Amino acid sequence: MGKLTYFGAGLQKSIYPKMKIQGVLISSATEGKTERSILYRLKMLEKIQYQYMILDSGGYQLIAAEQKGNLKKSKIMDWLTPKHVMTSAAKFNPDIVMALDYPILNISDPQKQVREFEKKIITNLRWSRECIELKDSYCPQAQLFLPVQAYNTKQMDFFFTKLASTKFDGVSLPARNSSPPQIIQQLLFLHNIGIRKIHLLGTSTFTSIIVSAFMAKHYFDWVSLDSTSWRQRAQYGLYLHPGNLSTIKIKPNRTYPSIKCSCPWCKYQNLYDLTNLPVTDCTFFVANHNYFVIENICRQAFDHSDSINKLEKFSKLRIANMPREKITNLFEALHLFEILAGEQEGYKLLSKLFKKKQNKL
Ligand SMILES: [Zn+2]
Repeated sequence: MGKLTYFGAGLQKSIYPKMKIQGVLISSATEGKTERSILYRLKMLEKIQYQYMILDSGGYQLIAAEQKGNLKKSKIMDWLTPKHVMTSAAKFNPDIVMALDYPILNISDPQKQVREFEKKIITNLRWSRECIELKDSYCPQAQLFLPVQAYNTKQMDFFFTKLASTKFDGVSLPARNSSPPQIIQQLLFLHNIGIRKIHLLGTSTFTSIIVSAFMAKHYFDWVSLDSTSWRQRAQYGLYLHPGNLSTIKIKPNRTYPSIKCSCPWCKYQNLYDLTNLPVTDCTFFVANHNYFVIENICRQAFDHSDSINKLEKFSKLRIANMPREKITNLFEALHLFEILAGEQEGYKLLSKLFKKKQNKL
């Protein structure tokens, strides 16, 4: 049995979890950018009671600059290097450090995907190797996770074959743009090549938590996931439902569904009271509530992951509004994972099965 850990990303000076939390995720491209930003963030982290820290590399900033068309002009690649990531890690002392990666764009045309993968694979391999070489000199205590930038398992196979003789601890999987069955297929590939520590980057949806809980309970030693949604949702006045993480807009003069929440915040206020609070207090309240309920769903899903049937029952009770087909596909994929885990070519079979229904996912 492994461990499932949620990491809160996107902490801000005025909005942070005011409770004991599992993990924080910070980025070497923002929080680790300058000596000043490092000191500022270290001071802020003193206020937060967290168990683990992940230092993300900052691939997101690279892709953001690329999408704005100012990658060259921004000169981000001049300073955001493997050495910068490891120098930041030496200062933050994280439990996990992500190697620097150059993210691929979210595109669906298969031919364009091949071109995009080929355009970035050389850089991704070079940066991974450099981070592997530097890690032990700068932050020997941290575990190194390699982000994998690939559209399919064939490309993942290529990436890991090229890094076959190198040493790293786990893999970070950008999960934002993938459906749960696609994530399951990628996890099957990683499991079958011997990876046992996984981070799902940028997601904390109910379904990705279900997948993570099952994987942590049975197939991986470590599964973690992170998101900024606890804070971002709060800033839009969106309260996460404690049972299934759906959103409820906080606004005056509306009727709310009856909700029971076990978080320390909801003990003293209800949703009607929130609309009377000053906006900053309301945001702080909702952010803390949101944080608590995401962690709580992770714990509950993990506790209900003894078998797929138990987990399916738990999920169906919670997400009655989700289209049946979506939930059926998710659990079908988990059943197939169970059958194919350990089969060398299992991921190829799963890939064929899902190609047939790709449009439905
Ligand atoms: Zn609450």
